[in-house]
Amino acid sequence: METKHQKILIITAPSGAGKTSITHFLMQEFPELTFSISATTRKPRANEEDGKDYYFISPELFKSKIQKKEFAEWEMVYEGKYYGTLKSELKRIWSLNKVPVLDIDVKGALHIQQQYPENTMSIFVEPPSVDELKKRLLSRGTETEESLNARINKASYEIGFKEHFDKIIVNNVLENACNQAKEILAEFLKN
Ligand code: 5GP
Repeated sequence: METKHQKILIITAPSGAGKTSITHFLMQEFPELTFSISATTRKPRANEEDGKDYYFISPELFKSKIQKKEFAEWEMVYEGKYYGTLKSELKRIWSLNKVPVLDIDVKGALHIQQQYPENTMSIFVEPPSVDELKKRLLSRGTETEESLNARINKASYEIGFKEHFDKIIVNNVLENACNQAKEILAEFLKN
């Protein structure tokens, strides 16, 4: 894939750290950003739309895309649930002269960074604490006890990788975190 002048923004964090809010904020501030729609095998939540939030596909189709090397990266983010960034999605966004924004998990983010080291800005959003993260996930009301525990365990593990990313933003007060992200982006998108 030709990537010479094509930038990528990765926003990564443990689930519930607030990366989606920061991503939405940045997309409003910077019209050159376009959300990279991932493919996933998990079921859509009530407010989610196919082709907008995710490309919701079957495990069979996901696996055939892995075999055909159609993914820039993919992960089994949770037990049995696959998520991946399609190369065609990056190309689609670059062809519009826009910068794709990848809201992806930590391992996937590390893979993208290794593959596109020169064009990528990676931001790790750190929750103020694991307790706070648990509170946020509970208030979202989308998790079962089992999936909540899985997310908390994964979060603690992921925080250990934060130093691998270009920038770390601690999301204590969302407004401050957004402003920090805005400064980073203004610099990254400058030329
Ligand atoms: P959720 O199920 O809450 O939408 O997402 C769960 C996790 O999967 C989040 O951390 C999200 O960032 C991550 N994720 C979403 N899309 C991708 C992707 O394409 N690749 C990887 N590696 N992770 C993804």
